[in-house]
Amino acid sequence: MSKLLIYNQMDRRNFIKKSMLVGAGAVIASNPLSKAYGFSPIGLNKKAICIGAGFAGLAAAYQLKLKGWDVLILESRNRIGGRVFSHLTPENHVIELGAEWVGASHSRLIELCDQFKLKLNNNQFDTHKIYQGQYTPAGKWSYSKSWEEKFQSLLENFRQLPDDEKKELDQLDWWRYLVNNGCSDTDLDLHELIDSTDFGESIRHVSASAAIEEYAESSEKNEMDFKIEGGNGKLAEKLAEQIGQQNIYLSHTVTHIDQKEKVKITCSNGKTFEADKLICTMPTFAMQKVKWSPELPTEKTKAINELQYARINKHAMSFSERFWKEENFDLISDETSHYFYHATKNQKGPSGVLISYSIGEKAAIFGNRAKEKAVQDVFSVLEPHFGSLQNKLKSQVNYYWGTDKYSMGAYALYGVNQWHRLRPILSEPFLHTHFAGEHLADWQGFMEGALVTGKEAANQITS
Ligand SMILES: Cc1cc2nc3c(=O)[nH]c(=O)nc-3n(C[C@H](O)[C@H](O)[C@H](O)COP(=O)(O)OP(=O)(O)OC[C@H]3O[C@@H](n4cnc5c(N)ncnc54)[C@H](O)[C@@H]3O)c2cc1C
Repeated sequence: MSKLLIYNQMDRRNFIKKSMLVGAGAVIASNPLSKAYGFSPIGLNKKAICIGAGFAGLAAAYQLKLKGWDVLILESRNRIGGRVFSHLTPENHVIELGAEWVGASHSRLIELCDQFKLKLNNNQFDTHKIYQGQYTPAGKWSYSKSWEEKFQSLLENFRQLPDDEKKELDQLDWWRYLVNNGCSDTDLDLHELIDSTDFGESIRHVSASAAIEEYAESSEKNEMDFKIEGGNGKLAEKLAEQIGQQNIYLSHTVTHIDQKEKVKITCSNGKTFEADKLICTMPTFAMQKVKWSPELPTEKTKAINELQYARINKHAMSFSERFWKEENFDLISDETSHYFYHATKNQKGPSGVLISYSIGEKAAIFGNRAKEKAVQDVFSVLEPHFGSLQNKLKSQVNYYWGTDKYSMGAYALYGVNQWHRLRPILSEPFLHTHFAGEHLADWQGFMEGALVTGKEAANQITS
């Protein structure tokens, strides 16, 4: 999730749960009797399986290893990282087709980077605007003063509310909440453009409760603060090294989960695996396809069938020169190309990558378009303000998350009356299985949320 914000003074409250920390020098328990398939041959250790090699599954497996468990990861894709998807361009730049920003409040992720000696580079931007055909540079536009003050007071009031009153906001969508509180005209249009970039769909579809909780708790640049040098995928690589590559089974799609005294997993390639415990980090769309024996509780199945995911399209274009000039360039627009940002900040020029990022219906349009047509759309928005771009484009790559085979979306989208109702049901363990993933996290929609829920699930099964 990206969180674009133009309010200046955001208070931040650190509400991340304190979890048991393992010191930087901790040694992973290794079992000298372990063979290639990871599990101890004479059953010395407890065994666990994690489904998914995204950040939640990797974080869970890493924590289990630290606690001396034998652990395996089963992953459908032929790569690790899941929705963290770093990509090397033909021009040798690393860009992100999935998660981009690390937030200043994302303490577990920052701690892991510190532990694995991964450098976090500043990835903050100053936002330009194209609205109703007019271009305005960064620093020259904002919400109206009166609305800015009102919004700050709404956030402040929210922070003081008792929990049960906070929950009442789940009955409204974010657009309705803003309108009911006096937001109108250009301020409302700007909220739609800016906040929908965060949620991946129109703010008319987002729970007001989920939205305000995030805005009330976020860092000054609203969690758009850093990026891991060399790509966010580096953290997946480091975790995988610690877990042991031989314990991660790529191209293994789980199709059947059987829970009796133990857990028995069957994959689409016919391979089976047994363990004492299971951590399931699949997005809900993928969970729907798995056969559970015994069946999942009815209310969990209903929750899985109800939750939506946001559509995001990333169209990355490599240009021979950085015509946008500023390294910290990003731009919001009311065109189909909804948002642009400089994706090669801190990487060598003169060439550079601009990502066109669209959400919701706009993402679906881009996702279905031929690249040539998509580029013409982008040029028609940018060229009136930045000059001819035709001869500057060197390469391009597009990824549409709305049709990603495993998630059918970028991240979970909690709608009206879902944040407080569905999340606890989805988080509830079932027999030997514990659940983790961004969709269950306080930092929902973020890498941090995936890491924290993965670690927590591992702590639950080992406690
Ligand atoms: C376009 C986009 C932009 C984003 N921007 C940001 C951002 O700026 N900052 C941020 O912090 N976060 C951002 N995110 C969100 C972040 O990527 C996710 O919150 C996080 O990576 C989710 O991790 P996860 O482990 O919960 O899920 P995943 O990464 O989806 O991992 C689950 C894994 O399970 C696997 N799987 C599914 N079904 C099966 C099966 N049957 N058998 C075996 N394996 C299976 C999947 O292949 C997947 O690898 C963004 C995401 C996207 C897509």
